[in-house]
Amino acid sequence: MISKEFLPHHVAYFSMEVGLDSSMPTYSGGLGILAGDTLRAAADLGLPMVGVTLLHRKGYFRQSLDARGNQTESPAGWNYEEALEPMVPRVFVPIAGRAVMVRAWRYIVRGVFGHIVPVYFLDTDLKENNSWEMSLTEALYDGDARHRLCQEVVLGMGGVAMLQALGYKNIGTHHMNEGHAAFLTLALLEQDVVHGDLAAAAQSDCEAVRQHCVFTTHTPVPAGHDQFPVDLVRDVLGDQRLAALEAVRCINNRMLNMTYLALHLSRYINGVAMRHGEISRDLFPDHAIDSITNGVHAATWTAPPLRNLYDRFIPEWRRDNFYLRYAIKIPLAEVQRAHRLVKQEMVAQIAQRTGAHLAEKVLTICFARRSAGYKRADLLFTDLERLEAIAERTGPFQVIYSGKAHPHDQVGKAMIRRIFEFSEKLKNSLRVVYLENYDMDLARTLCAGVDLWLNTPERPLEASGTSGMKAALNGVPSLSVLDGWWVEGHVEGVTGWAIGDDRELDIAGEAKSLYDKLEHAILPLYYGKPDGYAEIGRSAISLNGSYFHTQRMVLQYVRNAYLGVEP
Ligand SMILES: *Cc1c(COP(=O)(O)O)cnc(C)c1O
Repeated sequence: MISKEFLPHHVAYFSMEVGLDSSMPTYSGGLGILAGDTLRAAADLGLPMVGVTLLHRKGYFRQSLDARGNQTESPAGWNYEEALEPMVPRVFVPIAGRAVMVRAWRYIVRGVFGHIVPVYFLDTDLKENNSWEMSLTEALYDGDARHRLCQEVVLGMGGVAMLQALGYKNIGTHHMNEGHAAFLTLALLEQDVVHGDLAAAAQSDCEAVRQHCVFTTHTPVPAGHDQFPVDLVRDVLGDQRLAALEAVRCINNRMLNMTYLALHLSRYINGVAMRHGEISRDLFPDHAIDSITNGVHAATWTAPPLRNLYDRFIPEWRRDNFYLRYAIKIPLAEVQRAHRLVKQEMVAQIAQRTGAHLAEKVLTICFARRSAGYKRADLLFTDLERLEAIAERTGPFQVIYSGKAHPHDQVGKAMIRRIFEFSEKLKNSLRVVYLENYDMDLARTLCAGVDLWLNTPERPLEASGTSGMKAALNGVPSLSVLDGWWVEGHVEGVTGWAIGDDRELDIAGEAKSLYDKLEHAILPLYYGKPDGYAEIGRSAISLNGSYFHTQRMVLQYVRNAYLGVEP
C-alpha cells in the first residue's frame, strides 16, 4: 500500500472513455480499457486516486453484422442507475453563452485490500438544460465537431468544477489520459483569475497550472490528434478563453489542437511504450517526453483456470504481479491442462453465440480489436494461395476475428466486409469466423482461449497495443509486427514471433514473413512438439505477464509522474 506520507495529495485521472465492466459500455477500445485497468490497479495499490469521465448513458454502440459483414449500430443503453450512485452537487460549464448544468454519478472501484477509488461519471441530462445540452453525455465519440468540443468542455471544465464541489481540496495532479481532457487546464487557469485578463494570466500563471498537470499521449499520427476550428471554439467558449488558448500557443492554422494544449500545460508528458516515446519526441521536439509502457490489470484479464493455477503455485501473484515471473517453474502439464480448459470453454461459447463449431485440437489464431485501417486485419489474406497451401501442407488452423468499426469510419467498415469476403472464399480450406460486438467479456474469452494472438498494425501507428499483453498473461504467445509494446515484449521463439524485423518492409514482405513464421516455426512446433509450444506459452507468462501489468505501470507513474509536487 502507498501511504499518505508517501503520496499526500490526490491524483485526478481524466479519461473520455473508461472500461470498468462489460455491463458498462462506456469504452470503445484500448484507451478506455487502459483507463479502467489503471483505476483498478490504483485501488489495489492504495493510491489516492479519483477518476473522472462522462456518463455515456447510451454507451458506445452495439454492433450487428449481416451475412456480408455490413455493420449496423444500435444504442448500447445500460442500467447506470443501478450500477452508479447519484451525487448531490450540481456545477456549471460555459457553453455558447449559457451555463450548462452538470451532475455526477459515482462508481466505486475496490482494490484487493479494500482501498477504494471513486470514479465520477458526469451527466448533463437535467431538465434545466435544453435537449441538445442534455445529449452531450449520451454517447461516446458520437456527433459532429461542435458536439465533440462541448463534450470535452464538460469533461475537462465540468470535471474540475465537480471535484471541487465534491470537496476534493487536495488534488496535486490532474492526469489527462489523451488530449480529450485538456480543457481541465483552462478551468485551472480560470480559478486563479477571478477578475482580470485571462489571456495575460495564461502567460504569467501557466507555470502554476503546469505544476498540477500530467499528460499521457496515445496517438502517434498528427492527424489522430483532436482539433477544432477557431470559429467554433470562439462560438462555444467566447473571446476571452480563445485569447487565453492563443496565449498558450495551442492554436495553429486557425485550429485549436488539444494535444498542444495538454503538452504546453503539463509538467510531465509520456508516451505509452518505449518506441512510442521516441515517435512522440520526433513529433513534438519542443517537449521532454518520457515513456511508460502500458500494462493490463492481471486479475481482471486472467481466465479462471489460469488464476487457479497461479493461486496454487504462486499465491503472492494477486498482491504483487511481479511474482508471475516464477511461472517458469509451473509444471508444463499443468499449464497445458489449464489452457485446454479455457479453450474448451471458448469453443463452447462461440458455438452458443454463432452456431459455428470450431475444432478443439486445431491451432486457433485470433485477431480482435477495433477495426481501424492501420490495424490491417486483412494482412493475413494478402496471398490466399500461399495461405491455403500452408494449411494443406503444414497443418490446419482456424481464425477468429472480432472488432467494431467507428460508425463514421468507412475504411474500418470496409475492412470487416473484406474479412467476410475472404472467409467465404476460403471456406473449403480454412475456417474464418467473425464474432459480433467485441467487448470486454469477449476479449477475456478470446485472449485466453486461443493458441496464437495475431497483430499486424502498420508501423509506427500502434502506440502500444494491450491485447497481446492479456494473451501473454494467459500463456498465449503473440505473432506480431514489431511495433508498440511488442518491441519490448518480443523474444523470438521464446515469448512468440515477430512479423518482419526492425527494418522497413512493404506489405508483401510483411505478409511473406507472417507466412514463413506460420509455415516454418509455429505450425510445425504446435503439431510436432506440443511441449515446445506450451513452453513458449509459459515463457510468455513468466517474461511478459510478470511485467506488462498495470501494477508495474501505475508504480512507474507514481515514481516518474506523480511524486514530488505539492498541492
Ligand atoms: C484490450 C482490448 C482492446 C485493445 O486491443 P489492442 O490489441 O490493444 O488494440 C480493445 N478492445 C477491447 C474490448 C479490449 O478488451
